[in-house]
Amino acid sequence: MKLLLWDIDGTLIRSHGRSLEAFKAAFQRVYEVDLPLSSTAGKTDGLIVRETLHTWDEVAILERLEQFYVVYEGELQARFEYLQHETTILHGVHAALSHLQAHTIHSLLTGNMQRTAKIKLDAVDLSRHFRWEWGAFGSDSHIRNDLVPVALQRAQAAGWHGTFDDVVVIGDTPFDIACAKIAGACSVAVATGRFSLEQLAEHQPDLLLEDLTHYEALLQFITT
Ligand SMILES: [Mg+2]
Repeated sequence: MKLLLWDIDGTLIRSHGRSLEAFKAAFQRVYEVDLPLSSTAGKTDGLIVRETLHTWDEVAILERLEQFYVVYEGELQARFEYLQHETTILHGVHAALSHLQAHTIHSLLTGNMQRTAKIKLDAVDLSRHFRWEWGAFGSDSHIRNDLVPVALQRAQAAGWHGTFDDVVVIGDTPFDIACAKIAGACSVAVATGRFSLEQLAEHQPDLLLEDLTHYEALLQFITT
């Protein structure tokens, strides 16, 4: 059975700036720097911090990083009701998760910290679909390309018999495609985030979907 590793933002849900607002508030509180409005799509939380503070010493960044994550989690949790009301579950996600359930193991590969990923998916009652202990998160590495091996190792340690060939990474950015390719896993791209079908096609994912209402193509891809 394949292991399907889902990205969160732009793939499963869209939080319409509410999580970014929490991230920015925490960033301001801990690093006392305004986070610019640059694109964060596909980047791990730790990478966003490092890129924003690129003129800082790594040591100075790391000194406050744990604190930043704790404050960010608090800022996000404080917005839980907003997240519940405002977060959009993207088209086809419910159908894809339930129709694929019998054929695959759903887990996660995301640049979010594990704890903030949980808050985001709890807000829309999607957490229950995923085997969290097999997932790989921004809290495991700030380098997304490191994350497929982390998930594989966790799954194998828990008794799953698959290899990289049996891992499918699904996401909405070229970074998701790249981390799959580098690891030798399969990549599925969905154009429900900031990148268009054409832009994603340039990065040659193994399967490219406009959105998850085309889950039958995904099911076929996974089962053949
Ligand atoms: Mg994404």
